[in-house]
Amino acid sequence: MRQTALIHSPRFAEYDLGPSHPLRPIRVSRAHELMRACGLLEHDHVSLATPSSADEETLALIHDRDYIEAVRAPGEGRALKRPLDYGLGTVDNPIVAGMYEAMTVVAGASLLAADLVIDGKASVAFNPSGGLHHAHRARAAGFCIFNDPALAIAHIVERCGEGVKVVYLDIDAHHGDGVQEAFYHRRDVLTISLHESGRYLFPGTGDVEEIGEGEGEGFSVNLPLSPYTNDEVYLWAFREAVVPLLEAFQPDFVCTQLGVDTHYQDPLTHLCLTTQGYLSIVNEIAPRAPKWVAMGGGGYDVTVVPRAWTLAFARMMEVDPPELIPESEAHHYPATNEGPLTLHDSAGPKIDEDWARLAREFAETSVREIKQRIFPFHDLPTGS
Ligand SMILES: [Zn+2]
Repeated sequence: MRQTALIHSPRFAEYDLGPSHPLRPIRVSRAHELMRACGLLEHDHVSLATPSSADEETLALIHDRDYIEAVRAPGEGRALKRPLDYGLGTVDNPIVAGMYEAMTVVAGASLLAADLVIDGKASVAFNPSGGLHHAHRARAAGFCIFNDPALAIAHIVERCGEGVKVVYLDIDAHHGDGVQEAFYHRRDVLTISLHESGRYLFPGTGDVEEIGEGEGEGFSVNLPLSPYTNDEVYLWAFREAVVPLLEAFQPDFVCTQLGVDTHYQDPLTHLCLTTQGYLSIVNEIAPRAPKWVAMGGGGYDVTVVPRAWTLAFARMMEVDPPELIPESEAHHYPATNEGPLTLHDSAGPKIDEDWARLAREFAETSVREIKQRIFPFHDLPTGS
């Protein structure tokens, strides 16, 4: 069993963007409660850790000073002249009270996860509140203000020194654009994002042609997928394109964004995975990530996210979770006609045959392109 840390703070709930905003803090608090109810937090090899806020010096590893200042200003009673220049004050990123404080705690949580793993106090540390992968150097986007995955990676590189190799692996349904951007010119950080194609989904980027630039050429990997991609196709693509890269790169640290908006019930996206498929991906990652900094991410169905992250956390810990949702939490999950409530999905998506075929062909094209464009940089056979 692995020495595992779970990062938690009641302050995660402070990043509340309003009742109609999809990024509801309840996603994270219910996940924590479900993990607790399942008995996962009672194991000797699990520790709970409470984050403190990221300081400005650390935020500046990734973000511009004037942007950090812009995020802080409204809370200190200073009006922003041009908030939209910073992506603030939009429907996705409204300016809310306590925004700076809440976001620096989330960033601090991913930094703490990184520190615990660097210091050997845990071999895997999970910050479910993190994974805010769309934040840019000087602009908020897609519900994200500070880019905690990029900060955690920059912090690992800073603490461990030159020569340390980090993989960033992003299985959220949206392209991990902000993290890719931060390391686009570097070869010590290999970024890999699997996502619904930008043709159909925000942020519109993440095409296979985006492979990095200069020194970083061949070290940004994008695997776009079509709407209605199911477990089988996703896993096939992951094993064909991602697993060989993980094994060839031999990272010292693996940082994952474990968004679960790939789920077939997710209201914002069109991929069609189940919790079984999601867990299979986590199963592929776990043995290849001896030093693992895990972060949450998207996922907007509150009856799905807590179950998926509880299953993922149990896998990180290397214990078997209970099959059933404990009685104390069951009222949060919809009853089915198919028997008792389970942590895993009890049903799956129904996908039209034509769409299923198109999804497979789309994945095959993406995988082929990755093999041709990326594999040569890693001495892997292109398969053609
Ligand atoms: Zn997402």
